[in-house]
Order: sequence, then structure tokens, then C-alpha cells
Amino acid sequence: MRCFVPWNAEFISISQYAPVLSFYYIMLTDLYLPYQVASVLNILDNELVKNVGDYILSCQTYEGGIAGEPGSEAHGGYTFCGLATMILINEADRLDLPSLIDWVVFRQGIECGFQGRANKLVDGCYSFWQGCVFALIQRLPSIAGEQLHLNIGKGKQERGGALSVGISNMSEPESDSGTLSPDESKLSDIGISFIKGRTELGPLFHSVALQQYILLCSQVQEGGFKDKPGKYKDYYHTCYCLSGLSVCQHCWSRDAGSSPFPKAVFGPYSNLLEPIHPVYNLVLDRYYEAHDYFSGSEAS
Ligand SMILES: [Zn+2]
Repeated sequence: MRCFVPWNAEFISISQYAPVLSFYYIMLTDLYLPYQVASVLNILDNELVKNVGDYILSCQTYEGGIAGEPGSEAHGGYTFCGLATMILINEADRLDLPSLIDWVVFRQGIECGFQGRANKLVDGCYSFWQGCVFALIQRLPSIAGEQLHLNIGKGKQERGGALSVGISNMSEPESDSGTLSPDESKLSDIGISFIKGRTELGPLFHSVALQQYILLCSQVQEGGFKDKPGKYKDYYHTCYCLSGLSVCQHCWSRDAGSSPFPKAVFGPYSNLLEPIHPVYNLVLDRYYEAHDYFSGSEAS
């Protein structure tokens, strides 16, 4: 994650955006990590998230993607971090999601992999950073629909309630377990509510083509994954290629953790990986264990 920090970036006043954070600089990667951890630890509260949404909103560019700081170029890593953080603090409806979707759908190249920015070469690690943005959007159809006036959600909601409504919609009609009404919603419950809802939207990228890029172009025969042919394998690209591969394989499943149908998996079904929680990039079963431990309640 650290590789996305632009070290030459301008320092930003902490007091202006997030007074409770003790960082010397604040950029989106550094915002995502503490909120990701605080959410899993069940300690996320309204004081901790004060003004954070304003800062992330200021990083969404005219292209639609999210930059690491205001005025910079939209970038896949920051777009994932920004969107995931906005979900965790229940402010995803403040982003311009149609514009964000418009940016990210054009990042999948003819090589089948994703580029991190416009006019850049594709790179295996963006299989996760960009691919997982789609996995997040699949669970936010009511927000994007409202912004597009498509009447997918339940009508206009107060700011901050749309995410919960989206989750609730996706869970119907079978059960309302794991869903929260806006009044009941607690920040620390968002991670579990988000994954318990059903997806009503198919993936907006070519998931099988991306698997082809990961397995045929990024994979190293002796083991490990790399950016692209001609580069060397490393732990970073191995991690994010595998996470991206998991996202591709499970993105057609309506319920998190259910087995995908064979056509969703490129190659033999033995290629299938464990599902991840798209907000945290944690193996789903490990996330449930952490949730149960820190919340004192059972996730399933
Ligand atoms: Zn890379």
C-alpha cells in the first residue's frame, strides 16, 4: 500500500481535514488504512470520521476517478482507497458514482488487464485496485441509480442513509438479516452489513478476460506474479494479482461466499480462490473471525 504514497506531495493541514488523526501528511492511502483497521477492530465512530468525507470528495477529479490529493490525476489505487473509505464512513453517496464508473470502465485495456491511469500500460496489480472498485460498486446500485435518476433505489434519502438503503434493497426478499436502517446504522457495522447484502448488479468489467491477463501474462511459471511480461515477480504483485483473481471469480455470485458457477472461473475449477471481503481485501472467513472476535457477536 505504501507504494502509492507520492512522497513529493504537498503537505496538507491536518487541522483542516481530520483533526483527530496524528499523521504528518494525509493522503488517501493513509486515510484508508486506519479506517480499514478501525472498522475491523469495531472502534470506528463519528468523531474519528469527522471531515474525512470532505477530504476524499475534494480528491475526486474531473475524470471521475479519485486522486491521492486535490488537483492530482485520478489513479486506480486511490480510487479504491477513496471509495472503500467512503463506504466505511457511510458517505459513498456523496461521490459522483456515475462519473467514477465512467472513468473505471475505460481502464481495462485490449490486453485484458487494467491500467492505473489513463494512457498508461496495463499492470497486474490493478487487477485488484480497479477490479475491486467494480466489486464495491456492485453493492451500491441504489446510490448510482439515484444519481442517474434511474429509480433503482427507494427514492431520495437523507445523506448518509443511502448506503444502508442500498444494502437493504439487495437483501430482499429472502431476509433482512445483516441489514441496517439508517437510524440503526453504526459505523462499525457497515463492513458486515455491506458483505451480507446481495448483489443485484453484474460486474461492469470483463472478468474472464482479466483472469486471462492475470494467469497468462502476470503469472510466473515457477510461482508468483508480476506487473507484466518482461518484469520480475514480487510479493506486492503476487498479493494483488491473487486478490484481483479472487474478485474476478466471485463477482458473478449474488451472495458473498457462495460457490461461483464454473464459467465464472477461467481454466480448471481448481483455479478457484477463496473469496475476499472487497472493502478490506481480507479473506472472507478471516474477516468473519475478526468481526466476531472484536464485536462480540457472530457474523453468520
Ligand atoms: Zn503494479
